[in-house]
Amino acid sequence: MQILILGGGIAGLCLAKALEQRGIPADLVERHSGQPAGGAGLYLPGNAARALKQLGLLADVTAKTAPIETQRIVDSRGKPLNTVRTQDVWRECGPCLSLPRNVLHARLQAALIRTNVSLGKAVDNIRQSPAGCEVAVWLLPLTMSGMTGCWPRWRGGLMTPT
Ligand SMILES: Cc1cc2nc3c(=O)[nH]c(=O)nc-3n(C[C@H](O)[C@H](O)[C@H](O)COP(=O)(O)OP(=O)(O)OC[C@H]3O[C@@H](n4cnc5c(N)ncnc54)[C@H](O)[C@@H]3O)c2cc1C
Repeated sequence: MQILILGGGIAGLCLAKALEQRGIPADLVERHSGQPAGGAGLYLPGNAARALKQLGLLADVTAKTAPIETQRIVDSRGKPLNTVRTQDVWRECGPCLSLPRNVLHARLQAALIRTNVSLGKAVDNIRQSPAGCEVAVWLLPLTMSGMTGCWPRWRGGLMTPT
């Protein structure tokens, strides 16, 4: 069996890592050619930290994070509604952390050893055939008049990108 993961977001990258842990290689296709731009912050609650630990990545990621010890919920005028000590809620799972989104993506991607990651390719169509699954992939970049590209295919589980 061959596995094709569509999308190199947090879910796709974590799935690829989880498969690697089980000795299952995969191909991953992501339409963007690089990491998400900029440093919009991500809050990783304790269950996210637990998931990263299961993937063997918590220590690596934690080195890039700041701890979130308190969560303050305010109304639209900034009036405090509630204050939560995060460890009171998440102690059983793990620490609550924050880091820039692009840093998390970079760490997840760097942790992939056996996954064949293809950036700048967009899956356009998937068709089931008797021979297997046929996947149409556009090679990006986009042009003003639409997508340019070729049609490499995964047919019957065999990947033959050009
Ligand atoms: C403003 C904002 C703030 C957030 N803050 C937090 C937070 O603080 N903490 C938290 O836990 N969550 C937060 N979230 C939610 C979190 O970002 C998402 O749950 C998470 O990123 C979803 O990951 P994903 O991999 O499922 O999807 P995505 O990140 O959407 O990844 C999907 C990927 O698939 C690619 N793709 C799509 N179609 C194709 C195709 N046809 N071919 C190839 N590639 C394709 C896309 O380019 C994308 O990279 C926030 C979300 C937003 C919008």
